Amino acid sequence: MPVQQKTKQCVSMVRGFINGRVYTSFAPVRVAEAFAVAGNRIAYVGESRAVEKIVSILSGDVVDLRGRVVLPGFIDAHMHLLSLGIQLNSLDLRGVTSIEELKRVLKEFALRCGVKWVVGRGWDQELFKEKRFPTRWDLDEAVSSKPVYLSRVCGHMAVLNSLAMKILRLEELLNSNVLRDDMGIATGLVRESAAFTVWERVVSEMPLEDLEKSILDAAKHLASLGVTAVDVAGCSLEELKALLSLWSKGLLPIRVRVHVSLEVFNVLKKTGITFQFGDEFLRVIGVKLFIDGSLGARTAWLSKPYADDPSNTGVCVTPPSTLEAVAREADSMGLQLAVHAIGDKALDAALAAYSRLSRKRHRIEHASLVRDDQLELLEKVKPVLVVQPHFVIGDWWVVGRVSVERVRLVYRFKDFVDRGIPVAFSTDAPVEPANPWETIYAAVTRGMYEDVQLYSYTQDQTLPANIALHLYTHGSAYALGEEELLGSIDVGKLADFIIIDRDPLEVEPRDLKNVRVLETYVSGKRVWPEP
Ligand SMILES: [Zn+2]
Repeated sequence: MPVQQKTKQCVSMVRGFINGRVYTSFAPVRVAEAFAVAGNRIAYVGESRAVEKIVSILSGDVVDLRGRVVLPGFIDAHMHLLSLGIQLNSLDLRGVTSIEELKRVLKEFALRCGVKWVVGRGWDQELFKEKRFPTRWDLDEAVSSKPVYLSRVCGHMAVLNSLAMKILRLEELLNSNVLRDDMGIATGLVRESAAFTVWERVVSEMPLEDLEKSILDAAKHLASLGVTAVDVAGCSLEELKALLSLWSKGLLPIRVRVHVSLEVFNVLKKTGITFQFGDEFLRVIGVKLFIDGSLGARTAWLSKPYADDPSNTGVCVTPPSTLEAVAREADSMGLQLAVHAIGDKALDAALAAYSRLSRKRHRIEHASLVRDDQLELLEKVKPVLVVQPHFVIGDWWVVGRVSVERVRLVYRFKDFVDRGIPVAFSTDAPVEPANPWETIYAAVTRGMYEDVQLYSYTQDQTLPANIALHLYTHGSAYALGEEELLGSIDVGKLADFIIIDRDPLEVEPRDLKNVRVLETYVSGKRVWPEP
């Protein structure tokens, strides 16, 4: 329930928040009783009596927090807004036990979903009583007037209906990953590279207003979770256009920072556009590129082979020479680099490129496996490590993949912090849950309650709750280059804060994931619950 307000009037330029437990920052932990917001900024932090006085002199209004806890808003430094929105607007097919049931739920969903493309995910033919894959003809029986794309639970396979196939000209795609029946007719099933290519085409076929709807739904969802700013890592041209449109209409409820994909960077630089551009709500700040893949797919680039695949050391998707050329170019344009490096060999390449740049605050995304000798270089070069603590729980299989000898090198968050290497928190949503409290919980408990094997080897890498909160607020603000404006409740900063239902520094660690956000404010305006 929204916090009771003493005076009922439309939002005044000055508003005081009194009688609360206000964490203004987490490292060091600082607590105040009250604060005042003037326009979009924090104008005063201190005692309730002083805030009441300010408000009365300036004819503002007062919100009595009645002991409730206030924190700076969370900043998710690496996530995928459009993908999250599409996921929120898609049909969840996990647990469906027959093709008949799939058809029924698909038909119902298509009637109520407000977008052109009907997207679903999570089906598994192993669970179907028919014991076969669904086909275009099954889907056509349920929905024939809207294009349909349904991905399998693994994400490496999908099925489309006939209309979707026609729009994407799938019949023409002569590829062994487009599955065909005995007569050579495409069945609507695609797998591996074809599934990924087809998905990119689906997104490029989505109308701009549908992309905007998905992004807006994702942004509102994030606001409800206490996230007041995000960084879109690897933004496509479609996503950027939708973001610019929402921004121009003043519809973005939270702040969005953008690292464009390498493809978009190459397109934009030809136009002669001056980087960076935007304002406090939307800003293009950098370019994202990949050096390697993931530990899950055994494509992260390692200096020694995978323990469970001794002939494999992963892949390098951007050769060091290309990386260095892009890094120099982006750096000279004032853009921040965000380089995806999961394996230690990929980190070597990133550090080599960064060591030669004049500007210092570039980023490394993930940094999942870091050798001891690399810690020293990280201390010297000081890139921001943008990590996703929930991977600790999501990658529960990691010990078998890297071996017990190397397990110490995985997700070493405490080592980074102890050495003064800048760290920012993020979720990579929709890869991991968008809820920041799940990430805080993962950083503090490190899989202890989930019996994650990594915990028994690396429990010394757990973080105290205040440090986890610091990295998710100030740490992420620093990654965006905006620690002067965001990340704490201090006079002069933008008034982005949340009101929550319990004190995260008082609860048991296992309860951290149960903290609920009651209200979210951006620029001093309540964005959730929507007024
Ligand atoms: Zn990502």
